[in-house]
Amino acid sequence: MIVIMRIGCSQDEISRVTNRIVDAGLRVYIPHGVERTVIGVVGQAFPGLRDALESLPGVDQVIPVTKPYQLASREFHPEDTIVELDGVTIGGSEIVVMAGPCAVESEEQLLLTAQAVKAAGATVLRGGAFKPRTSPYEFRGLGERGLRILAQVGEETQMPIVTEVMAPHDVDLVARYADILQIGSRNMQNFVLLDEVGRTRKPVLLKRGLSANIQEWLLAAEYVLVQGNEQVILCERGIRTFENYSRNTMDINAIPIIEKVSHLPIIADPSHATGKWYLVSPLALAAVAAGADGLLIEVHPNPDMALADGPQSLTFDNFRLLMSQLQPIAEARSRKLAMPAVRVNP
Ligand code: PEP
Ligand code: MN
Repeated sequence: MIVIMRIGCSQDEISRVTNRIVDAGLRVYIPHGVERTVIGVVGQAFPGLRDALESLPGVDQVIPVTKPYQLASREFHPEDTIVELDGVTIGGSEIVVMAGPCAVESEEQLLLTAQAVKAAGATVLRGGAFKPRTSPYEFRGLGERGLRILAQVGEETQMPIVTEVMAPHDVDLVARYADILQIGSRNMQNFVLLDEVGRTRKPVLLKRGLSANIQEWLLAAEYVLVQGNEQVILCERGIRTFENYSRNTMDINAIPIIEKVSHLPIIADPSHATGKWYLVSPLALAAVAAGADGLLIEVHPNPDMALADGPQSLTFDNFRLLMSQLQPIAEARSRKLAMPAVRVNP
């Protein structure tokens, strides 16, 4: 529910409304960047609260929110959310490319990859230290050693890092090293994990669940937002369909739909969406053309030898080629590619 106050209403009238909401056991949300005083009611309102609020002095009208998610909706928060990292903004006018290997395998592998993707224009470094794998016999990541390598290489190349956290008890550990906490597709509805990352003040990259619809995905984002962490970035990474020529099917529709119904930034991951390296670039270009705020791309120095997701990883050459093709597409959408940080030697 959204309460729209009359123009020129008094502070007393606003307080009566907010007190009434809090007395009903609900929370108040005041969006920024709207001309009128607007008060969002967060939570499950009881029948009759709408009439009660509408009859208070200073209230112009009370509009029910049409979606089950509230804090994630544009109705509540008309302005775009822009996530700010050290030197990188996600959801603004720039297209942000996050790139790196599926899994951190060694310091040498990560450093080589970081230098190559940065030279080609990527601004955020990705790499998994805790890897969710379909089979328990596959490489499951280097754990904390992988986090240490990520932090060290991120520091050396001046790139913020994004890495997955799989378990609620690892959130503090991963948050000590990472700039962005990734929630993987398989964990999109791990509500205890969502609560936990919501309690941190680190940006959260929330991947769409393998079989989640857009409403379920935005309700997962709501879990993080309602804990007070407003820095959520959505990531379309393909959904399960009957098609088996690709690993998943990238739901390009989701990009403009999210832009319409939510203020949260949305990036696309064509690597996991397709599972095949030769499909990654076409889908990356399509995602930016559809309005994505950025991309997450798997790149490996030698995809044939990768310990995870080699078939979908781009070589350095193919990544460079993609970055050169991206520029005109970004411009066609009146966006530009974010530029990597340049080291200033003291
Ligand atoms: C990943 O990004 O490495 C990953 C495991 O992705 P997803 O959760 O989308 O499968
Ligand atoms: Mn992967």
